[in-house]
Amino acid sequence: MASKKPTGAEIRKTFLDFFEEHGHTFVASASLVPGGDQTLLFTNAGMVQFKDVFLGTDKRPYKRATDSQKCMRVAGKHNDLEDVGRDSIHHTFFEMLGNWSFGDYYKKEAITWAWQLLTDVWGLPKENIWSTVFRDDKGNIPQDDEAAEAWRGQPGMNPAHVLYFGRKDNFWEMAETGPCGPCSEIHLDRGLKYCDKQGVPGHICQVNGDCQRFLELWNLVFIQYNRLSPTELEPLPAKHVDTGMGFERIVSVLQDVDSNYRTDLLWPLILTTQKLAGYSDEQREANFTPFRVIADHARAAAFLIADGVVPGNLGRNYVTRMIIRRAYRFGGKIGLCEPFLAKVAEVVINHYGDFYPELKRNRKSINISITREEEQFQRTLDRATTQLEDLLNKLGKSRQTILPGDQAADLYTTYGMPFEITRDIARERGFDVDETGFNQAMEEHRLASGAGKAMGDLGGEEVEIYRQVVMDLQSQGSLSEIGVVYDPYSRLDVSGKLLSMVRDGHPIQMANPGDELEVILPETCFYVESGGQVSDTGTIRDVGDTWEIEVKDMRKPAAGVIVHVGNVISGKPQVGDEAIASVDTQRRRDIMRNHTATHLLHAVLRKVLGDHARQAGSLVAPDRLRFDFTHPEAVTPPQLTQIEAGVNQHILGDYQLKITYKPLEQAIAEGAMALFGEKYTETVRTITIGGDKPFSYELCGGTHVNETGDIGICLLTSEGSVAAGIRRIEAVTGRKAYEIIRSRFAKSAQAASLVGSTPDNLPEKIVSVLDELNSLRKQVSALRQNQVAAEFVLKLQETRMVDGVRVIATRLSDADMDTLRQMADRFRQQYPTHSVAVLGSVKDGRPSIIAAVTEDLIARGLNAVELVKFVAAPLGGAGGGRPTLAQAGGKDASQLEMALGKVEAWVKENIHP
Ligand code: ATP
Ligand code: MG
Repeated sequence: MASKKPTGAEIRKTFLDFFEEHGHTFVASASLVPGGDQTLLFTNAGMVQFKDVFLGTDKRPYKRATDSQKCMRVAGKHNDLEDVGRDSIHHTFFEMLGNWSFGDYYKKEAITWAWQLLTDVWGLPKENIWSTVFRDDKGNIPQDDEAAEAWRGQPGMNPAHVLYFGRKDNFWEMAETGPCGPCSEIHLDRGLKYCDKQGVPGHICQVNGDCQRFLELWNLVFIQYNRLSPTELEPLPAKHVDTGMGFERIVSVLQDVDSNYRTDLLWPLILTTQKLAGYSDEQREANFTPFRVIADHARAAAFLIADGVVPGNLGRNYVTRMIIRRAYRFGGKIGLCEPFLAKVAEVVINHYGDFYPELKRNRKSINISITREEEQFQRTLDRATTQLEDLLNKLGKSRQTILPGDQAADLYTTYGMPFEITRDIARERGFDVDETGFNQAMEEHRLASGAGKAMGDLGGEEVEIYRQVVMDLQSQGSLSEIGVVYDPYSRLDVSGKLLSMVRDGHPIQMANPGDELEVILPETCFYVESGGQVSDTGTIRDVGDTWEIEVKDMRKPAAGVIVHVGNVISGKPQVGDEAIASVDTQRRRDIMRNHTATHLLHAVLRKVLGDHARQAGSLVAPDRLRFDFTHPEAVTPPQLTQIEAGVNQHILGDYQLKITYKPLEQAIAEGAMALFGEKYTETVRTITIGGDKPFSYELCGGTHVNETGDIGICLLTSEGSVAAGIRRIEAVTGRKAYEIIRSRFAKSAQAASLVGSTPDNLPEKIVSVLDELNSLRKQVSALRQNQVAAEFVLKLQETRMVDGVRVIATRLSDADMDTLRQMADRFRQQYPTHSVAVLGSVKDGRPSIIAAVTEDLIARGLNAVELVKFVAAPLGGAGGGRPTLAQAGGKDASQLEMALGKVEAWVKENIHP
């Protein structure tokens, strides 16, 4: 029997263990939402969380790291969506295994360890391994003989398997400028039977020959240059190693299967889908593409939602929407027409939940979000497809092959049909879609599909200025090694020398009143905006009180650099002056109350609504707090009351906040709440509230009150929706809450005095005033009716006899339809036979008419409906009813008298003897 194949989980562990044994620190995967990087849609490689280390703006407590990073390559520079479903080695979501050196070991060690892991530990046949190294096709950058030699020196490496390639394959750059360097890829020859291009003209079966025979497993990047311009490179003082291995790919190799989808990572998802579809194995193999797409997309959707990216209309949220909808459509191809994807995602949670516990924690919201999204799409997919088919038929008839972008955009805005699906369908029928035109049209709809730049502008220049300033200060010994000492927690005043001032991007020695500038002190106690909490404001003065700077904002332009942003109020500050910086204490206290209240709110929300309610953004300002969270529907008024009461109960509990520092991993393992898109350091600050039985435990660098009682009170002021699946609650605390209460008190006192009551009795008083008003209204209307009745009695004298029939046609003043009907009834009671009445009135400019004909006259050819129509016609009206009683309205009241005048003639004309 063949030896047992390792599981995916074991393979991941072997990789991480191997590097830990070689002195690397395990670092947890960063979120799919890149921390503090607005320019990048998703984490698309292991290096994203270490970018700042390479740039020199961040430092880590370790020099060697190893990780397994969650990646998404579905937009921007790295977009593999079109390969998903088509090949067996690209996914939208995948894991990248990596080992890292930050200014520590370099090429030789990286290559040696890669070789050892692949050949000794995993036993891959040495003769099948190939490596590529850099040789500049432009001839400017030295070729990487160092790496080539390291490769050739590996025991058993065939020197002929070390190949040189140019910039496209073997030179790695993060952006237009910045850290970069040659890279070395490791490819595995899986044998000729894997070549999917045999017989394709021009195909050469070799490394980078673009067939599936040579599988790119691992990329080792050697960062040794800093790019200054398109033609200038300078060597970096520190050299780094950044490697990325495709986890699914190595698992396919070690489990000896021909596709990533047949590894134990994805196969269970395929089997689940098969079962749902009721397919036999043969049917599955004959129609494999939908299975691949569904497995890939279900996994990506589960991981995205676990990282807080719920389906929506914009940016990242759009991607989640698109992949769920795309999977749903592919489900249709194998007969799945009801929402099913959550069942596949459930398998993802069960298989990946141990290594990525965020999946388990968000089981419910993954399930709800996916199912809702499918349900929503289910309603419009058919109509969208029909419409698209029509458009394509038209195109075909006019011999065109490209669907205009605005039509694709219409399909999205009208039916929620994502561009990618429109393109899928179009391509299945031999058409293509104008993507540029689509993006333009969507831009006009302000619904950009969210393709972000892979790496954005890193603001290199500004970083440079401050790095220079800090290096100068450090070499003079006036600034500590770590830069500005930051302690917003223990005090609100700090004194020190005014170290540096920057105005308009240039350092200055002296400033004048009115100058806008940025000030560096050796230490600061001003909070710098982060985690939703706004920056502190305050003042900086010199000890002798000759000048004053008002601080309006705080910034951290580069690692170790914290600047106070403000302007000179008076005097002439000079570099070297002894200064005192003071935070605006009252404002800061307000902020602290709101921040702690935010934690209480978060905890209570989850208790009342469920664990799926997670923070999706927040603002902690002095005058209010704002909390966005994932929740599929509006929070009901009773729930809101319960939430507010819960928060205030925690406030009254007067719990002491417990603040401790601990390793990130430990905190996460203990269940601390972390935020999306927030970047955490190795050691994190945690806030626990609730004494012996904590109810709130969050990672947080913000400033907080000492005891919850300091918050005073918390009032929820609004609840609403910000995006699909995301709700927002706003609240106030402390002074602001008091202000609101005070003003409501004043208003209720004012209202009470207006109605001659007290605030406590106000509701009863209002009820009694309303009652009185009601009964007065009734009296008025009764009086009005009496008045009309009296008038009617007088008018009855106007009755005329026409052929033995009593006819009255008259106008009553200011009566509504109800009153007219009562009068007609009265008439019929008084004259039960041989009688016809037409009563008209004009109220608020609009005429009403009622006609009554006694029963006996029907046989003689009179009919109330015809009569009322006859009268209403000249008034531009129509009517209806029964033969004995009918009513009508009209537009032109001026014709009423005239029309009534013709009733007698009508009776004469229509009556049979
Ligand atoms: P490829 O040329 O195969 O698309 P790449 O050059 O884009 O790979 P890198 O950016 O160097 O890949 O990423 C490092 C490793 O991650 C690759 O060697 C590969 O094993 C894996 N990888 C890259 N893209 C994907 C993907 N979409 N799905 C699964 N694995 C991937
Ligand atoms: Mg690629």
